[in-house]
Amino acid sequence: MDASSEHPKPRDGFASPRFAQPATFMRLPHIESPAGLDVALCGIPFDGGCSYRSGARMGPRHVREQSSLIRPWNSALRVHPFDRLRVADCGDVDIVPVSIEATFAAIERTLAPVVAARAVPLCVGGDHTVTLAVLRALARRHGRLGLVHFDAHPDTWDRYFGFPYYHGSTFRRAIEEGLIDGARSIQVGIRGPLYGPEDFDFHREHGFEVLRIEDVKERGVPAMVERLRRLAGGPVYCSFDVDACDPAYAPGTGTPEAGGLTSYEALGLVRGLRGLELAGGDIVEVSPPYDGPGAITGVLASNLLFELLSVVALGR
Ligand code: MN
Ligand code: MN
Repeated sequence: MDASSEHPKPRDGFASPRFAQPATFMRLPHIESPAGLDVALCGIPFDGGCSYRSGARMGPRHVREQSSLIRPWNSALRVHPFDRLRVADCGDVDIVPVSIEATFAAIERTLAPVVAARAVPLCVGGDHTVTLAVLRALARRHGRLGLVHFDAHPDTWDRYFGFPYYHGSTFRRAIEEGLIDGARSIQVGIRGPLYGPEDFDFHREHGFEVLRIEDVKERGVPAMVERLRRLAGGPVYCSFDVDACDPAYAPGTGTPEAGGLTSYEALGLVRGLRGLELAGGDIVEVSPPYDGPGAITGVLASNLLFELLSVVALGR
């Protein structure tokens, strides 16, 4: 298919049953070249940076499979993203399972043509380590980005066993490398046992705003969306670690923390990004081996991806 001449469409569920055909994200055509696309959906199947349970390398395949039930109209945001956008499944980054640095290089190399084609990359991980390389690729075009980061964890820790890159240091490295602007960065859903109050020293130094899970639960989603509004007026990256959601709603993840977002809150928060200029985004830390037979984490991640796509569509 020539993506520049027509909008790639998901397979019609009335002509081809939703459980048939090789799985792609949202049953879209697999188009390797991002030329002519508005949005490139990419898998990044790397989990060599996780510190606890692994398995997120299987995340892209799982989300492809579970996204086959995504229908084309977003009834909450009232938008048809596949009509507004040329979007396709651009396949996976061929990561290097035994090297974080070589994986970063592969991600940057694979996303360079996406960024050059001015397509918005929406990536499915993989563990949270991969986001750093996506931000590096995007920074070449956008400079420092604003950030909305949904997570149970701050991911601003420093070294792990002496090494600088793992899924808990992503946003510290991103600030150090000048990829994101701390004053235009908001974390949502932070909670759970941490090492000490000093875990937030970095946030204070760099102006990160933290919306803890208590803020979400006590003040509600609309008040959180109001806080996110201040990021309007410049390009923003949205990184969604699925462990922001409660393990009751998202058990299939590597570092679960009790007491998180419900699926409904998570969907509402992502819809609340409407009006922001999304330069890119990701859903990370989906670990299928822990997801159980209902695949509820995969279903939720698929829906979050559809909401991100819909937010991009509303920006066009
Ligand atoms: Mn996390
Ligand atoms: Mn994370």
